[in-house]
Amino acid sequence: MIKGTGLVKRYGTVTALDGIDLSVPEGTVLGLLGPNGAGKTTAVRTFTTLLKPDAGSVEVAGVDVLADPYEAKHRIGVAGQYAAVDEHLTGFENLDMIGRLYRLGRHQSRQRARDLLARFNLADAGDRPVKTYSGGMRRRLDLAGAIVAEPKVLFLDEPTTGLDPRSRIDLWEVIRKLVAHGTTVLLTTQYLEEADRLADDIVVIDHGKVIASGTAGQLKTEVGGEWLQVVVEQRSQIPEAVPALRMVATGEVHVDEDLRTITAPVVGGASALREALRRLDTTDAEVLDIGLRRPTLDDVFLALTGHAADAASGSDRHEEGAPR
Ligand code: ATP
Repeated sequence: MIKGTGLVKRYGTVTALDGIDLSVPEGTVLGLLGPNGAGKTTAVRTFTTLLKPDAGSVEVAGVDVLADPYEAKHRIGVAGQYAAVDEHLTGFENLDMIGRLYRLGRHQSRQRARDLLARFNLADAGDRPVKTYSGGMRRRLDLAGAIVAEPKVLFLDEPTTGLDPRSRIDLWEVIRKLVAHGTTVLLTTQYLEEADRLADDIVVIDHGKVIASGTAGQLKTEVGGEWLQVVVEQRSQIPEAVPALRMVATGEVHVDEDLRTITAPVVGGASALREALRRLDTTDAEVLDIGLRRPTLDDVFLALTGHAADAASGSDRHEEGAPR
């Protein structure tokens, strides 16, 4: 549904896009990740007819965007970081206005506005001016505006930047539902957790080039496998526990005496965990905590780009289910 081939865009001496290929199958989410200045917004602008690339081709929902930008506009919705809503109009009036601009009839436009307000949990606030809305409500309204014309393809440029955690989760839910109904989404994000949770595939770009792509799981596996982290009750028990863990480890076992923690690389996930527990049970070591850890997308980002993602991604530092 979205396809970019050999995209190049230069601004004077800056090469914002340096030969990027992207492809998003129907009904899936592609997460475009990259540090500041990597070229994410430039890529979105070329897909949404706002910018002409110096080289390459762009296709959206079967339409050649460069040859027929007008037709392409009919097939896409765009929501950006800064909610494009009119503060002085109510939520209903904003959506109704967009419907009318898309030439939906008066009745259909109003009906669509009411439906969307209900769907985005804004029904109660629908007749209030948008200036009384919270940031999360504005962003939901903006996203509702982007789908008034029921586009098959949606571009979301940092859709949840600046939102509180609750609003972010609410918006993820809305995006998930759209995708479940067949919408194809390309989203840029600085939140690794967002890419991890929403994106079927992730493309990491830096300096205008694709430096890695795959599912979150594949990227994590590429950077490093999984490991067991064991905390024993007393430091004196470490020498007992280490040989037991060596039996299941696939590489060197590390010990942090101060934290009474032993780390062992493993393969096999839960079965390695069970085997380790079985072996530890045969020793006198008291296990205070044991957990299976995998690299986070943060680790992936650091390994690929040589620098950490924005501080905003701190919430990604612990993998779900991992010991804290
Ligand atoms: P951010 O996460 O900070 O929004 P980004 O990945 O979206 O970054 P872009 O905004 O696409 O990055 O910018 C890519 C590069 O192109 C940057 O070096 C930027 O300074 C440069 N650039 C973008 N727009 C222009 C412009 N209109 N004129 C000159 N340089 C530009």
